Amino acid sequence: MEFSSKLLENAVYEMSQLPGIGKRTALRLVLHLLKQPDQQTKRLATALQRLREEIKFCTSCHNISDVALCEICANPKRDESVICVVEDIRDVMAIENTGQFTGLYHVLGGKISPMEGIGPQDLTIASLVSKAKNGAVKELIFALSSTMEGDTTNFYIYKQLEGLGISTSTIARGISVGDELEYADEVTLGRSILNRVPFENSMKMS
Ligand SMILES: [Zn+2]
Repeated sequence: MEFSSKLLENAVYEMSQLPGIGKRTALRLVLHLLKQPDQQTKRLATALQRLREEIKFCTSCHNISDVALCEICANPKRDESVICVVEDIRDVMAIENTGQFTGLYHVLGGKISPMEGIGPQDLTIASLVSKAKNGAVKELIFALSSTMEGDTTNFYIYKQLEGLGISTSTIARGISVGDELEYADEVTLGRSILNRVPFENSMKMS
């Protein structure tokens, strides 16, 4: 792609670094921005910059939050004895949308994946285990996608919790293997949380 302007080329390059955005789409977006009022581009730039500079993660569940303790963790109506373990914030949003879960979450920040060089120490597993050892937790619900990485992560955490007397379950799969949680419809996902199965059973099935 030949550009008549370095500034244009640079903006297109940066835009094309986003997932799913090729050079052509990037060019279309950049030209679109140029047609918009100056203020609109400034608002976008400021929003992105503030997001990076000011974003915080909940000190308890690691969900993205504007304050130290996220709204869910700070809500006294939530049941702190049940923790739903998820991969990222999109899963929290998907499960919250079902309105079926009243416990708390723990956001791992990924899954154990030797292929991608992601080990337990790269995730928030240690923080989950120490939370579990504090005694308030009675049940852990694994809600990771049922891929090999998800299963490995579940099993690793399950092993870490052995002997603590915490019951572990996995969400029931009306969802086919490999589907990501965020794509499940709300009714199916809500039902799969209510119909969760003991983790030991899920291991025998697989
Ligand atoms: Zn939180």
